[in-house]
Formats: sequence, structure tokens, C-alpha cells
Amino acid sequence: MIDAFRYFLPVDIRFGCGALQELPALLESIGSDKMVLVCDRFFDQFGKDLQKKVPAIVAVFSDVEPNPQLSGVEEVVRLMKATGASAAAAIGGGSAIDTAKYAAACAYSDHTPTAHFEGLPFPQKVAKIIAVPTTAGTGSEVTSVSVISRGDEKKTTHSPLFCPTACIVDPELTFTVPPKTTLMTGLDAFTHAIEAYWSIHHSPMTDLLAIEALKAIVPHLEKSYRDGDKDARVAMSYGSLLAGLAFSNAKTAACHACSYPLSSYHHLPHGEACAFTLDSFIRLNADDRLQTLAKTLGFADCDALADEIARLKETGGLRTRFAQLEGAVDLDRIVSESNVHMLMKNNPVQFTDAQLKAMFEQLL
Ligand SMILES: [Zn+2]
Repeated sequence: MIDAFRYFLPVDIRFGCGALQELPALLESIGSDKMVLVCDRFFDQFGKDLQKKVPAIVAVFSDVEPNPQLSGVEEVVRLMKATGASAAAAIGGGSAIDTAKYAAACAYSDHTPTAHFEGLPFPQKVAKIIAVPTTAGTGSEVTSVSVISRGDEKKTTHSPLFCPTACIVDPELTFTVPPKTTLMTGLDAFTHAIEAYWSIHHSPMTDLLAIEALKAIVPHLEKSYRDGDKDARVAMSYGSLLAGLAFSNAKTAACHACSYPLSSYHHLPHGEACAFTLDSFIRLNADDRLQTLAKTLGFADCDALADEIARLKETGGLRTRFAQLEGAVDLDRIVSESNVHMLMKNNPVQFTDAQLKAMFEQLL
């Protein structure tokens, strides 16, 4: 029997090579004639060139930090208020998209973004959000989550107000992403899919999306980063979008819970931080359901799937042991902060601190 479920997603999704050309028509369809464009530093010139072609872009903000800062949100809100913009669009990875989401939610507020960061509820009226991902990994283009930092204080906020009005997933934008970033973001997409699959909040609908995401990602991840193969990159964009659709409703779990202290104390980028524990949690979460998934993906069992993730990390030059990381290692702090993180509750297995510490000790 099929379990009862609810699946909610109000995003207008446009996928395809060259889909970015639809931006002017999209702006017209959502009734927005002024927007502020937020883009990654890497896409600064691209954003400025786009502004010349799309008159609705009234300002460009491209000073987005890898862990997007509240100060960036404040600047985008200032630009939106000064120009009367009714939309924030982002071209970039998760950092640019999360900045645009937060700014759009604050655009009509009488209070500062800092006041909302400190707990003041957002107003119900928000600006339109358009997300254009340039990496195959974030999934942020279809989720209602924004992760913003004030210094080292990283805050994840879930709100339906953050759900983009529309997203344009144009795989051509990923063609110039460097190999290592392609691997890290690809492993993030893989983690989104498998965590949506094993999350206690999974449903028949999110399973469908997670399995299809993994079927697109698994055969193409290596080719996409190692060879820059265009067909593989298109498949990765598709897989990342499906993974985003899966975890937007099912949520992520242990790998993401552990990624936060790993990023904070050892400065690992998000994808690399998720991948750091990914193969360990595949082994620890290996129940009958996960064994079936591993076989569906062409592996003998979960151990073989975990071995493949470990191989990809190793051959791609990602850091796999604490000895390779910046900063002093305090396993007790990593364990306690990971285990109390809200996403850990979504994991199918609940661990004691001692069990989690034993896992991390294997990675010293
Ligand atoms: Zn992630």
C-alpha cells in the first residue's frame, strides 16, 4: 500500500541548455520590471554583461562570500529599496541564491535584516525570487531554506517565504566550473538525494525523485568533473535539480548535520564537508531499504557504494581525514554539536555520542 504523503512546491521550473534566454520573458510573466541581480564573484562580468541586455536589472551585487554574510544581504536590501526593485535574482551557487532569498524576504520590511536574523519574524509581503544555479549541487533553487552567516555564526532558516518564485536551470552555466568545485558540488547533490531517501520524512514522492536523481548522478559524476564532459554536466544539473526537489520536502540528515561544525571549525566548503562523512554514514545506515537502493544503482551492496564514494573523494583530491584539515581537532565538540543538530533527528539511525565519536575516530 502507498503511504499517505504531502508534497509542496510552488516554484516555476525551467530546465534546459540555453534556458537563461527566457529570463526577460520570465520577469514579464511574474510582473516584475525591476530586479537586483546577485551573483558570485566568478560571475561578476557575466552579470554586468547580462545587465546590458536585460534592462529590468537595475543593480548588480557580486560581493558574495563563500559562506554568505548578513552584510551582503544588507547591501542587497539597500539596493532593492533604493531602486524600488520588486525581485531579487541570483546567478551563482548556493551562496548567491541564499543571499537573494534572504534579501527578498527583507525587502519590504520596516526593520533591518539584522533584526530578522536575530529573531524578528519576516513580513508576509516579500519580493519575488528568481534562482539561476551555476553549479550542479546546491538544490537551493527549489528549497525554502537559506543559510546566512554573521561572522562565524552560521544560521539556517526555513521559511516558505524563501521559496523561489521561479528558477532557471541552464546546464550551460556549469560548463566553466573548475573540476574540484564540480566534484564537491556533485557530491553535495549525491548527499541531498541519498539523505532525502533515508530521511525519516521520506515519502513515495520524494523516493521517486531521490532515486531518479541518483540514477542521473552516479554514472555521470566522475565524467563531469574529470573530463568536463558536457553531456555528463547536463545530467548532473538534472540530477541536482531532482535531488533538490527530493530534499525540499524530505529534508537532509546526518551528513548535513555533521557538515556544519566541520565547515565552522575546519573551513571545509559545504560539498566537501558533506562528503567527509558520506561513505561512513552509508555504512552505518545500511538497512534493507538502503541495500535495495545500492543494488538499483548497480552496486553489489552498501559497502560497495560507500567504497565508490571513498574512491571518488580520494582520486578527486578531496580531504578525507582530520589530519589534512585546518585547525585543531576537538572531536568531542564536533560530536556534540553534530548530534544535537536538528537535521540529525531525520537520520534513520540515532547515534549515541560514543558511537558518533567512534565513527569520527576512524577519520583522524
Ligand atoms: Zn547540501
